[in-house]
Formats: sequence, structure tokens, C-alpha cells
Amino acid sequence: MTDLESHLAPYAAHSTQSRGRVHAESASSSRSEFQRDRDRVIHSTAFRRLEYKTQVFVNHEGDLFRTRLTHSLEVAQIARSIARNLRVNEDLVEAISLAHDLGHTPFGHAGQDALNLCMKNHGGFEHNLQSLLVVDELEERYGGFNGLNLTFETREGILKHCSRVNAAALGELGRRFLEGAQPSLEAQLANLADEIAYNNHDIDDGLRSGLLTLEQLDEVPMWGRHRAEVTAAFPGINGRRAINETVRRMINTLIVDLIETTGRNIAAANPKNIDAVRAAGALVAFSPKVHEEAAALKRFLFRHLYRHYLVMRMSAKAQRIISDLFGAFMQDSRLLPPQYQASHGGDQPRLISHYIAGMTDRYAIREHRRIFAVSESD
Ligand code: MG
Repeated sequence: MTDLESHLAPYAAHSTQSRGRVHAESASSSRSEFQRDRDRVIHSTAFRRLEYKTQVFVNHEGDLFRTRLTHSLEVAQIARSIARNLRVNEDLVEAISLAHDLGHTPFGHAGQDALNLCMKNHGGFEHNLQSLLVVDELEERYGGFNGLNLTFETREGILKHCSRVNAAALGELGRRFLEGAQPSLEAQLANLADEIAYNNHDIDDGLRSGLLTLEQLDEVPMWGRHRAEVTAAFPGINGRRAINETVRRMINTLIVDLIETTGRNIAAANPKNIDAVRAAGALVAFSPKVHEEAAALKRFLFRHLYRHYLVMRMSAKAQRIISDLFGAFMQDSRLLPPQYQASHGGDQPRLISHYIAGMTDRYAIREHRRIFAVSESD
């Protein structure tokens, strides 16, 4: 096979130097190991579920809002374009980006917080760890093993955060959380691409929903600066076109700054290979000025969008649905589909959390109705 990765820098993740898969498999004749990982993620069941999982707005609130699926595609796009500039592995950043939210519950962060609370006395619930469990254990696609059997490097990138207790149980993969080491550049990059994607698309969705106003956004320096540029370049521009042109420029500013700053950091640290990257401090970063602007944007979104009373109402409903379902299943596990009943083996609270975490928004709403609503048609 021709070397598919000969263009990569020495500090990139190279398929041929991968720490490998848990279950040994023979190499593909046409694809690199990270291409295979990316393809396995796309063909997974959990990936298709992302279409009906909330990013900020619940799926039925409108057709044009981001879902976890379109969010993940935007993250992959941003991560790939940065990766190509830095000569790190595009296939690996794409695999990590597309998989990074596979473990998310229905109803976004409200759902995750509710499930974590339900699981408080049973080991808790962490969505990053759940994403890893999806690819390591929960997908059922292969005759010979559970999960997707992805490479160490993709799994390393998926596990963005992890508590010390869980890290200790994960062995090699969890070690960096105990030692304060870094993951590959590809993993660091996917993480910041996630941030670039959601900060910008949440502004766009916030404006589209009417929960954010243009007047409020004027207090955000990064928005104001780019909005002024757009008005100067296109006098009289307004409406959606002005918003899109502004958001587009903000994304570009963040990407260019990340490429330049990271390029300088890499040059200074001069890592000779991926292990030197892991031993160095965080290399993928924004410049201090852009970092501060991005932080101000985040604070704005938190205050005006994520804590908006209409979003809070939806979050409260979501939390109630999750805790009602969890409570009902804990009280009587016979209400669960057989494969989630511990009588077939396993830890009952954990099986319930797998069942709930896998639900799409609308499945959870329907399941809540099936368990709690009494009507003649049932
Ligand atoms: Mg994300």
C-alpha cells in the first residue's frame, strides 16, 4: 500500500506507529488505521442517533437549529482545516470530532446533569466516558468483539475529560489524567475545534430563535469588531446575510489565530514525535488576546442564552423526564427492555444509564409518555 500519510509532520499521529487496537486486526489494503476508525464511527448506530439529540435547542423546536449531528460535522470541518495547515493527521481529527459527542444524553447538558445526579450513588455519569464506552463496549457491529475496536489514538482523543477515579480504572488510556500529561495534537485540536464550533453556532442559533438580540451582542468585543468590518465592506447589509457574514469571519479569525499560535508553540517545543507531544505542555492554543475574546463570548452565551428563562424551562422539563424514567426503572426493572435488565447479567443502575443515555430527545419524550401517561389508546 502506498504511504497515505507521507505528508505528515514528525509530531503528527502516524497510523503505522499507532499503539493499536484492543483486538488485533489485520491492516486494510486501502485505508489507513485512522480512516478505518472514522468510517466505523460514521456507520455506528450512536452516530445516527446524534441527528435527534439536542445541542442547545431540543430537536422539535425548529428544523434549522444545530443538532449533535450537525454540530459534530462542523467540528470535524474546522478540525480538519486546521490539521491540514499544521500537517497533523486529518483522518484522526475527523474520527475524534465525529465521535466526540457519541455518549451525550438526550436534551444536551440538562440531560447529562440529570443523569449524573440520578447516578450519584452508583458511580456517576460522565458524557466523555460514555462516548468512550459507546465505541469500546456498547456498539454491536462485529462478530468477534463488542464496540468498534478503535485505535488507542482515537480513543485517547474521545476521552477529553475524566475523573481520577475513572481514569485509574482505565489503565493506559486514563494515565494522562493522573500524570497531567497531554494527548496528541490531533486530540487537543479536536477539543478546541469543538469550542470554535459551538461558540459560533450558538450565536447563530440564539439569534435565529430570537432569544438573543443584535443589541445584546454589541457588548461582545469579538462580535462588534467583525460586525463593524462587515458593515464597512458591505454598507447597508443586514438581516441573515449580515449575521452569516459576521459569524463566518469570526470562525475564520479563530481558526487563523489557532493555526498561527499553535505553529509557534510547536516550533518552540520542537517535538520530534507524538510521545514528545504528549510529554510537552498544551501546544494547541489561541493567542492571549483571542483567548480572552473567546472567553468573553462564552460568558455572554452562558448569561444570555444557556441561562435564558425559556431555555431553563426546557431544561427543567428535560431533567424531569430523565429523572422520572430513571426512578421508574430503578423501582421496577421489569419495565425495561430485556437487554437492559440486570437479571440477564450486569449492574442495574449502569444498564439503566446506558439505556437512557442512548435515547434521542423524541424517544425519551415518547418513553416517558409510555411509562407515565394513561390514555385509552394505550
Ligand atoms: Mg461538542
